[in-house]
Amino acid sequence: MPDDFPLKSRRQFLKGAGIAGLATTFAGAHAVASNPGTKPGRKPKAKNLIFLVVDGMSVGTMGLAHHWHLRNRKKALNWTQLYAHPGLRRCVQDTASNNSPVTDSAAAASAWGCGQRVNNAALNMDPGGKPCTPIFARAKIAGMRTGLVSTCRISHATPAGFVANVASRADEDAIVDQYLSRQVDVLLGGGAKHFQRTKAGAAGTDYFKAFEQAGYTLVRNRDQLLRLPRADKRLLGVFSADHIPYAIDRRNDDSLAQIPDLPAMFAASLQQLQGSKDGFILQVEGGRVDHAGHSNDAGTILHEQLEFDACIPLALEFIEKNPDTMLIVTTDHGTGGCQLDGLGHQYLESGPALETINRIRHSFEWIEKRFLAAEKIDPNIVTHATGIVPSDEQVAAMQVALDDSDRWRFLADFTRIFGSELTGISSVGWSSQNHTAENVELLAFGPGSEQIPAFIRNYELFGIMTDALRI
Ligand SMILES: [Zn+2]
Repeated sequence: MPDDFPLKSRRQFLKGAGIAGLATTFAGAHAVASNPGTKPGRKPKAKNLIFLVVDGMSVGTMGLAHHWHLRNRKKALNWTQLYAHPGLRRCVQDTASNNSPVTDSAAAASAWGCGQRVNNAALNMDPGGKPCTPIFARAKIAGMRTGLVSTCRISHATPAGFVANVASRADEDAIVDQYLSRQVDVLLGGGAKHFQRTKAGAAGTDYFKAFEQAGYTLVRNRDQLLRLPRADKRLLGVFSADHIPYAIDRRNDDSLAQIPDLPAMFAASLQQLQGSKDGFILQVEGGRVDHAGHSNDAGTILHEQLEFDACIPLALEFIEKNPDTMLIVTTDHGTGGCQLDGLGHQYLESGPALETINRIRHSFEWIEKRFLAAEKIDPNIVTHATGIVPSDEQVAAMQVALDDSDRWRFLADFTRIFGSELTGISSVGWSSQNHTAENVELLAFGPGSEQIPAFIRNYELFGIMTDALRI
């Protein structure tokens, strides 16, 4: 099987969607008028595009990680160092969706992925229900290779936003179908449950087999990923049944040692894609900053952000060696409104909180899983995971909440019972457990980035990227 994309047209690409009528819908339509399209003899400004995205990074999450890093590592975050990098293009991004000033990840990724604002929960389907052409379709037609890397299920909304057309982001089985039929070259992340199914899809129930039959190399753990030779083959790496466990849990739980971190997956994807004669587009998502924001989980969000930050030097090294690469670093929206708050008299307790936060060894998700499995509150787990030594009253209150399975809401109960201790440990406050409408940072480098204005609406980025790539 040839490695280069064999499809010749958008019609053929969309045929792979498995959505009735999709191919014919697109037979004569061009979803985005502002794009110049591929013209013979027109040289791309950018050969490659690397798109690094933190999902759900509130401005305050960056502030928390920035100050933690200065205090604990005695130097600036890699992201902060980017502001001094020559050739930086910096702008502020408005992240709304078609039907709300507060976007979800599906609509946000679709805005980048097809140049239109769609409704929340939709992936590259316009508000009238018509599919839009995703950026990977254009890339494939131009002979480029494509890749998606995420700490979420790889079929989650943000990676899917560059490839898929589905009415609902929840239809992740259909998204995997489309990854296969649309031949995304590199897929690395979590979400095995959508590859090994109870209900049969177009390729049966074992999609790992179907991907292998389609020429993909399959890897299922960290050692296999690190041992991969440099090659131009298609690659599927799925390392957990659901999302990839949080960075803070992987650091402190040996049973998770065979799950790769985001920088390892990023490096492996670059290794597979960099030989592409006609370039590549690679999206890399630090997907679970968003989840830790939804959970208002300060220790966890910090380590998710730090893991994403470790990808930045890899990207810089690549663009230094390959100056024909456009690099974008951004987030799709804020989540939780995370902030390092002033704490104590004259806020003098906020600085030390950047060290006491290091007592936290596990995520709320990790704690909750153990309580649910044991159906019993173990105070030692709370102490091991957070450094809090619960009182007998606190243990009893947690046990009552756990026993009342109809209303067991771990997060609400945990923060109700340990709220003041958690604030004392982290000094982190939250505006909600939801997404926010805040304007967010967008940094860009390389050819095409000069076209990015100081203020950009998320859907406007699509035309700039496709223009730079001449696709
Ligand atoms: Zn979210």
